[in-house]
Amino acid sequence: MSDTWKPRTAAVHGGTRRSQYGELSEAIFLTQGFAYDSAEAAEARFLQAGPDEFIYARYGNPTVAMFEDRIALLEGAEDGFATASGMAAVSGALMAMLKAGDHVVAARALFGSCLYVLEEVLRRYGVEVDLIDGTDMDQWASAIRPGTRAVFFESISNPTLEVIDIKGVCELAHKVGALVVVDNVFATPVFSRAIAQGADVVIYSATKHIDGQGRALGGVILGRRDFIRKVVEPYMKHTGGAMSPFTAWVMLKGLETMSLRVNAQADTALRLTEALQGHGKLSRVIYPGHPSHPQHALAAGQMDKGGTVVSIDLAEGQEAAFRFLNTLKIAKISNNLGDAKSIVTHPATTTHQRLPQDQKDLLGITPGLVRISVGIEDGGDLIADILQALETA
Ligand SMILES: *Cc1c(COP(=O)(O)O)cnc(C)c1O
Repeated sequence: MSDTWKPRTAAVHGGTRRSQYGELSEAIFLTQGFAYDSAEAAEARFLQAGPDEFIYARYGNPTVAMFEDRIALLEGAEDGFATASGMAAVSGALMAMLKAGDHVVAARALFGSCLYVLEEVLRRYGVEVDLIDGTDMDQWASAIRPGTRAVFFESISNPTLEVIDIKGVCELAHKVGALVVVDNVFATPVFSRAIAQGADVVIYSATKHIDGQGRALGGVILGRRDFIRKVVEPYMKHTGGAMSPFTAWVMLKGLETMSLRVNAQADTALRLTEALQGHGKLSRVIYPGHPSHPQHALAAGQMDKGGTVVSIDLAEGQEAAFRFLNTLKIAKISNNLGDAKSIVTHPATTTHQRLPQDQKDLLGITPGLVRISVGIEDGGDLIADILQALETA
């Protein structure tokens, strides 16, 4: 393994551990426990386990360790901890670092479950949480104060694809010694290097682009070694949100092809955005990688491409949106994203159904809004299908 490897090389070879058989494809160590050579060896390992020494799969496992090392290398993070889902990563990172009386500032435009963790769980345990408009640097500046312990945001928000200025928020947070935790799912590990831009902790739902083929739930917390091993690991290993070895193997295989998939998806997303410019049925076409996005310059400065999701707003509202969804032949109606298969979601009636109307208004979740997660199908086929369904809508 080499520090000079480019991400695409790291994504294929990083973190590999081979058994005595020299297997080419990574082995699945489907074992909960590990046998020790002697009672003394068991005692020594419980005192201090080395990097290739394991005790119990809730603490660590060789297949899981391969995944952690590979994604950390790819991200340019010192270390990582793999979790059972993206939400186990978000809640684990926050619960591990916070205590009653701490103050947290977060951008309001969040994945529903992230909002629940911040508004319900953390507040119940005595953490003070301020939610702000993350695109407004003045709001960050006035909300972050001496004593703020952590700052949390999605670098690209769901489903309206607002871009948060990673460097700008990190500067404000670091002035008061707050840790910056970035949920980087929409930016993907392929296009974004949030740690290089100042983030202390980066979180991925591996369920999305890392698996990329709709098979398994998983997540990862990435950051400095001390933070991962001394703060995250004790919390995660005792509360039980560990990734299973089988899932880690699925995710390792996902990492190998992730760059190819995600680049192809982003290229089609840009083509689709171009094809939809000025379309009579649409009041908005939102894609951070296109100059029509109000924060295009910011997106271009912190990401190589605009990501794999395009959101569109059908001017005639929910009925038109439903007709559009029901007429599509290639994209499937579902709620995952980052998948090889294109997926369309109507946030107002599904993922964001429970949000009160004033919150939906605040976040721009209109009745006509449709989120399109662009897959790896032929771009021409996909765009033709979307255009024909818009005609029907
Ligand atoms: C999906 C998602 C999560 C949660 O991940 P799971 O693997 O579903 O638990 C968190 N944040 C964002 C931005 C997501 O898209």
